[in-house]
Amino acid sequence: MVSAMGIKAVEYARRRRQLMQSAGEDAILILPAAPMRVRSNDTYYPYRQDSDFWYLSGFPESGCVLVLVPGRQHGEVLLFCRERDLEREAWDGSRTGPEGAVENHGMDDAYSIDDIDEILPGLLEGRSRVYYHFGRDPEFDLKLIGWVNRVRTLTRQDMQLPHEFLELGHLLHEQRLFKSRDEIKLMRRAAEVSVLAHQAAMRAARPGIHEYELQAEVERVFRAHDAWPAYGSIVGAGNNACILHYIDNTARIRASDLVLIDAGAEYRGYAADITRTFPITGRFRKTQRVLHDLVSAAHAAALAQARPGLPFAAMHEAAIEVLTEGLLQLGLLRGTLAGNLKDGGYKRFCRHKTSHWLGLDVHDVAEYRINGESRLLESGMVFTIEPGLYIPLSDETVPAKWRGIGIRTEDDVAIGPDGHDVLTQGLARSADEIEAAMAMQG
Ligand code: ZN
Ligand code: MG
Repeated sequence: MVSAMGIKAVEYARRRRQLMQSAGEDAILILPAAPMRVRSNDTYYPYRQDSDFWYLSGFPESGCVLVLVPGRQHGEVLLFCRERDLEREAWDGSRTGPEGAVENHGMDDAYSIDDIDEILPGLLEGRSRVYYHFGRDPEFDLKLIGWVNRVRTLTRQDMQLPHEFLELGHLLHEQRLFKSRDEIKLMRRAAEVSVLAHQAAMRAARPGIHEYELQAEVERVFRAHDAWPAYGSIVGAGNNACILHYIDNTARIRASDLVLIDAGAEYRGYAADITRTFPITGRFRKTQRVLHDLVSAAHAAALAQARPGLPFAAMHEAAIEVLTEGLLQLGLLRGTLAGNLKDGGYKRFCRHKTSHWLGLDVHDVAEYRINGESRLLESGMVFTIEPGLYIPLSDETVPAKWRGIGIRTEDDVAIGPDGHDVLTQGLARSADEIEAAMAMQG
């Protein structure tokens, strides 16, 4: 029933209503769509809608502005979009047009984007607070200042004028943190497609292949399931796995290498984010397995903390404690567990946090801390668990056999009313499972 999957019009309407309610009756909320971006000369990057705009409208086009005016009698939900233009549409694809935006996208009213300078100042009248993403698009910032100045000069004395400018993110991103049932469905789909992609890469593994060939396998599966890469796929063999944002993917993979693949599909706007690290031959060497097992143990410790009511930070703390203890036992760290945790000595090998929110953005929005304290996990939150261990070739302070190994194991987890659900459960995770899976495919 993949074709029936998606966010329904009533859910978009509910999101807008909830946001307007938290903004209050004297507010106005203004959200521009993402602009087209030039890739080279007159060709553009594939278009990706702005996540906030998409979350509130499901409207796929550029050149639009969504305006929410809570309590406005003649319509609260307004869209400025491009007019239909058959000549342009024959080149660039179809447009919805203002009529279609009202008929098919649940807008109360829609206007040509060309009329926004005329209409928007009037909408600001009587509104004291403006919610907007300041600083994201300097050109649009200037437009907004222009409209505000215009309404100042036009307005009667007894009229309320916008005098408070507020960051839209605080309200909207808190809302986006809690995923609905239909959002979880889409995220589960993104996760399933990503699992298939990682399985295809493991199947294609053989010494002598290039990193980009494995990337091609992964992304072929994404496209074959109507998905895109949610971010630049990372395929790092050997020491390249120690470069956290390695996306060159150019190297030839040697028989002794582990390969780290961090790649996730984006499906209907929602991201998955999976990392697996496997031996290109399908069999771990001894030192590789010792470190991989340690990362697995850290992953399990973090996952055990993924329950409603526990602090978000507890997952990272649990993972770091297991990793640090293991590194001490292997002689890779010196001193005591408490000492290393306190002074951050473990950071030499464990360089990133264990979790981030996941949703329309791969590093999804919303705060991790509230009033200086880690927030508690609640049903509907989705995040990654991704402990990692990196010992670069250049680290001459450790015995040579440990060098040039980077390992990360990353899964996507949704919190439910009583526990968690690993959306990426279908993919081999432990060293044993990976060897078994690769042997079967071999
Ligand atoms: Zn991640
Ligand atoms: Mg990742």
